[in-house]
Amino acid sequence: MKRAIFPGSFDPFTKGHLSILMRALPLFDQIIVAVGQNSDKSPMTPTMQRIARLDDLFKNEPKVSVIQYSGLTMDFCKAQNAKFIIRGLRNAQDFNYEQPIAQTNLALGSVETIFFSAEPQLSHLSSTIARDIAKHGGEIQSFLPDIIK
Ligand code: ADP
Repeated sequence: MKRAIFPGSFDPFTKGHLSILMRALPLFDQIIVAVGQNSDKSPMTPTMQRIARLDDLFKNEPKVSVIQYSGLTMDFCKAQNAKFIIRGLRNAQDFNYEQPIAQTNLALGSVETIFFSAEPQLSHLSSTIARDIAKHGGEIQSFLPDIIK
């Protein structure tokens, strides 16, 4: 059973996240969307609401499950018996942030991180920017998969 974790705060889950997940799906038997709490970011949508929407989004996709987690992603992988982490890369800044984390997860947890390059037309999408726009009453519908809107 090839099981992967797709961890993130997903606040909100954007078309960019959906693209990464759908492209990873053929490679794995199961993908767990792991909804975590990023201590550097204050949430726009409560975790349980985010999970309910994601459950809805993936209700017809038996290979995808949605679980809340806290603590180290590496420990969550071990608990779920997952050997792979999926992450998306939009730019060099993402890469510089992700590489040492991936190297650490490999060295300490024997977990491989698989990176997917963002689709060019989605690489500007960021949950942080979406939250900022929403906070100031702006329009973020175009960022989001239909069900999340
Ligand atoms: P985190 O808080 O862990 O950074 P995010 O919810 O912001 O989680 O993102 C989860 C993953 O999705 C990260 O690997 C991030 O780089 C990736 N990602 C976010 N937006 C996009 C996008 N538009 N295209 C591709 N990957 C993306």
